[in-house]
Amino acid sequence: SRVWHLISRPVGRPVPEDFALVEEELPQPDEGQVLVRNEYLSVDPYMRGRMSAARSYAAPYELGGPMAGGAVGEVVASRAEGIEPGDHVLHSSGWREYAVVDAPRAVKLDPDAAPLSASLGVLGMTGLTAYAGLLRIAAFKEGDSVFVSGAAGAVGSQVGQIARLKGASRVIGSAGSDDKVRLLLEEYGFDAAFNYRNGPVRKQLRAAAPDGIDVYFDNVGGEHLEAAVGSLNRGGRIALCGMISGYDNTEPAPGPRNLGRLVQTRGRMEGFLVTDHHDLRPRFLEEAGAWIRSGELKYRETVVEGIENTLEAFLGVLRGDNIGKMIVKL
Ligand code: NDP
Repeated sequence: SRVWHLISRPVGRPVPEDFALVEEELPQPDEGQVLVRNEYLSVDPYMRGRMSAARSYAAPYELGGPMAGGAVGEVVASRAEGIEPGDHVLHSSGWREYAVVDAPRAVKLDPDAAPLSASLGVLGMTGLTAYAGLLRIAAFKEGDSVFVSGAAGAVGSQVGQIARLKGASRVIGSAGSDDKVRLLLEEYGFDAAFNYRNGPVRKQLRAAAPDGIDVYFDNVGGEHLEAAVGSLNRGGRIALCGMISGYDNTEPAPGPRNLGRLVQTRGRMEGFLVTDHHDLRPRFLEEAGAWIRSGELKYRETVVEGIENTLEAFLGVLRGDNIGKMIVKL
């Protein structure tokens, strides 16, 4: 059974030498545990933070120890009541082929209700992040003009579409390639979109949202955040979800230089973590499930195959190789 280990803490962009794929004996479940054969692994930007020693909201990965993250798999042995071999579960011991999981930490899934990988993305952590961040933190209301960065990614593509479905007056997205921009406009129903590599974000946002924005959902930070503050309308709200443009920085990035605008606009900026918003999960699953069934909410996954390609998939997320949720299929 193979498992990825972190063997040195990356400085700047992680490199393959920081990791090793290690062969281990097949683990066995104790009383109250199950053995899961992982089928889908999640690789996510937040994992970059856990590779550093600095304390954050999620504990750092141990040096010389296994990587971890969201995963879905089939139970192959059970010493826990209520979970049988053949059941499918969601858990957090990814980056490996087989995982021993404490039964209370395994969430049973219905494989007939939705594709299993959806519970890592559109119906999982990233979906709930989009839902909670837009509706609760940014306090979205009908008629708002909404800008989201990282708009072709897992969270961003869902933010833009939920905004549209809930009656946004205008939805604007930014992404890192012309193909992604086309997808936003042609498939996800964005009103405007631009490739942030094609020119200054401030200028491109101004052109895409000549009447300003009421909500900015920030996945990127840096230049995007400053541009959004500059385009914010009176009473505007900014939900700080992530700042991926700075995850490999060795020094903190400078903050927006125009925060004074929040005074004039009575603007509000608030960070959040999806883990605090699990109370919204039932409502989110009901609404998102219905939108997916009706075809109103579209989603893509970028699927990389093989445990040996997990690291490459993760590095791909940092590079922007993915459209929608990046998934590793074992
Ligand atoms: P995505 O699927 O959006 O993948 C990350 C994307 O970031 C890449 O595809 C790439 O797309 C983009 N990116 C990479 N580098 C840069 C850069 N320098 N500038 C602009 N864009 C860049 O990942 P997720 O949807 O999983 O996560 C999106 C954001 O949400 C991240 O910041 C993440 O940390 C955050 N997050 C926060 C949570 C919370 O609880 N607060 C929970 C989950 C996620 P492109 O080609 O467009 O550059």
